[in-house]
Amino acid sequence: MVERAAALLATAHHAVVLTGAGVSAESGIPTFRGEGGLWTKYDPVKVSSIDSFLADPASYWRVSKERGTVALSARPNAGHDALAAMEAAGHLVAVVTQNTDGLHQVSGSRRVIELHGSGRTVRCLECGKLEPRADVQARLEVEMPPRCPNCGGTFLKPTVVLFGEPMPTDAINEAFDLARQADVMLVVGSSLVVYPAADVPLVAIRSGARLIVINAEPTPFDRFAAVVIHGRSGEVLPEIARLIGA
Ligand code: NAD
Repeated sequence: MVERAAALLATAHHAVVLTGAGVSAESGIPTFRGEGGLWTKYDPVKVSSIDSFLADPASYWRVSKERGTVALSARPNAGHDALAAMEAAGHLVAVVTQNTDGLHQVSGSRRVIELHGSGRTVRCLECGKLEPRADVQARLEVEMPPRCPNCGGTFLKPTVVLFGEPMPTDAINEAFDLARQADVMLVVGSSLVVYPAADVPLVAIRSGARLIVINAEPTPFDRFAAVVIHGRSGEVLPEIARLIGA
């Protein structure tokens, strides 16, 4: 199966990858779903919706503080590195990601489309000031919720898309344009149950792309795929990169 995936990618002219939380699991960042996922610990609507954030930013930040510490210290793993190498070698056009951790960019991927925003910056909803997440993270030790250093407001929100918020239009449009042009669509580390992100491979298939799924567990899209590999992305992707000489 790894050989078949490598053969498809080696001959592709416009291969695009969609990544999910699973690609960062081996960097120590918990996924939402699947074994050990965050949803087994928290109620998603309570911790990750815009309504609950606006009602009580301190509660949001108490949970986010723990996740931020993990995400800010995480390093890209061999899976991120393999995708960056495939792009550099001309075998991948772009990375469309549901992740907000910024690890694709750290590992050297150049064209990264973030469908759910970035957790690396924080915006004050009152005055609009943008700050690095690391600066806000440091202040969480002394103030909860954190205050804006510009206006003193207490509605500082990471620039991620919370439940109930609109998706970033430019990123969505770019992702679907890429999907329509794709001849190979690779999906890595996503449960493929979050929409509209899961529509990206669907649009690619409808436009004639071959689908490759690499995930620790079965996904609802496995039956549409030319190749399905149930495994860890940090092991499977470097093997594919090696086979195609990336
Ligand atoms: P998900 O949590 O729904 O699914 C992750 C999938 O990855 C699961 O099916 C799991 O079996 C698989 N997986 C776990 N470890 C793996 C590994 N080593 N190799 C391959 N597969 C592995 O994630 P999703 O589909 O991305 O959707 C959930 C939402 O979670 C997204 O909207 C995303 O914004 C958000 N999220 C992001 C991060 C992050 O930025 N790293 C972390 C958690 C959640």
